[in-house]
Amino acid sequence: MLMFTDRKKYYFAPVFALLFCHAILAPGCSRRPARISRLQWCSMGTFAAVQSADSDTAERLRTVAATRFSQIETELSAWDPESTLSQVNRAAGSDRAVPVSDAFLDVLRIATTMNHHSAGAFNPLLGPVLHLWGFGSETTPTATPDRHALHQAFSLAECSALSIVAIDGHPAVKLARPGMRLDFGAVAKGYAVDLAWQDAQRQGLSNALIDLGGNLRALGEARPGRGGWLTGVKDPFNPDRLIARLLLRDGEAVATSGNYERFVEINGERCAHIIDGRTAMPVKGIAAVTVIAPDAATADALSTALFILGAEQGERLLADHYPDSLALWIPDRQPAAIIASEKMEVRLDRTAFP
Ligand code: AMP
Ligand code: MG
Repeated sequence: MLMFTDRKKYYFAPVFALLFCHAILAPGCSRRPARISRLQWCSMGTFAAVQSADSDTAERLRTVAATRFSQIETELSAWDPESTLSQVNRAAGSDRAVPVSDAFLDVLRIATTMNHHSAGAFNPLLGPVLHLWGFGSETTPTATPDRHALHQAFSLAECSALSIVAIDGHPAVKLARPGMRLDFGAVAKGYAVDLAWQDAQRQGLSNALIDLGGNLRALGEARPGRGGWLTGVKDPFNPDRLIARLLLRDGEAVATSGNYERFVEINGERCAHIIDGRTAMPVKGIAAVTVIAPDAATADALSTALFILGAEQGERLLADHYPDSLALWIPDRQPAAIIASEKMEVRLDRTAFP
């Protein structure tokens, strides 16, 4: 049986419900607190949302965030044939370098740094491999991709064949081999959230939450004295159940990668949309990873990398390169169990659910 689905946009809905519930049911309040305003729209192929107890802040933040998200979509979308990313991919092997923005370069650097730190597990050049597994393509495979084709596609995921050059003093990107294809699906949304968060700060907006497809970043707190924004960790095997909660502090970001978000089913087996950059095969054994990081681009890239690496190697990656980030892994076997990194364990509230 073959199936294709994208459940990411539904995945966080109960988390919002939780945020909302906690906002309106503040214990010890004698007066009924104002509702949290939540504004939602579609962007970058998923949902975007902002929240604040102050409706004016929510409105202004939506304008700020929508502008940034559109800008990043125009540059980094793998689906838009006119995006800068598509132009770079089309020019692969042609000797032509395509001028790119600072934002493009930032994302490229975050992705190639993560490739280096994860010893190849994370790789922004897996586009052709993802395509063969049915991601980023209109067609879905009916069987495991042909070995020869997979090998061929995998040989194009070579970061040394990617170069940044200068054209008239402006940065430009070149992919040396025909068929090479960049994919920023693991980091672009988090990066867009950071840009919106910075704009919001510059405009003096506070006490709000920005979200793009499950990449969240906090500004201030949900309510005075709350200390941040409460967010839930969902049971990947039961979408209606939360198995833990976390308080997202001012400035922090959280991201989740899960095998239930996007997958293909080949011969009855679920194949996650996250591919191991060391083997070109879909990652097995992990149902979900949640990361808290100082910024949303790092949280986004890390959640994907740690999904591939698993808890043991992942803990090492955090200790060696991302000491300010925390993570939890949920293995792909029921009932859902949480493996938390040392620093995450301290922050995790596993008990607070009715
Ligand atoms: P996320 O939901 O943030 O974990 O990102 C998943 C997306 O990242 C996929 O849909 C692909 O576009 C892309 N991706 C899949 N595998 C990898 C990988 N090994 N390295 C970098 N990006 C990947
Ligand atoms: Mg990611």
